[in-house]
Amino acid sequence: MAKPCRLGCAACCIAPSITSPLPKMPQGKPAGTPCAHLMDDLRCELFGQPERPKVCGDFQPADYVCGENREQALKLLTELEHSTGHISL
Ligand code: SF4
Ligand code: SF4
Repeated sequence: MAKPCRLGCAACCIAPSITSPLPKMPQGKPAGTPCAHLMDDLRCELFGQPERPKVCGDFQPADYVCGENREQALKLLTELEHSTGHISL
């Protein structure tokens, strides 16, 4: 069974860089910057829309990126970003 995504986390919408253009971030998203499409409640405003980058839809929760809590996820995703130069989501 797939790991469920943690409500109120959004670490993967903050820590990694995204190279695909986003409607509000046409140059892509820099690492460590919250996505401009993240809403106040930390949900994605593009969810289910064709403008949402494919990488976001393809990303699956997993222990090695999500950790036990939001702080761990931010740390793990930042480490991954720094070790690879980018995260291939
Ligand atoms: S890091 Fe994992 S738990 Fe957190 S929002 Fe992304 S997929 Fe969900
Ligand atoms: S488009 Fe949505 S899922 Fe993708 S990084 Fe931005 S807020 Fe997160």
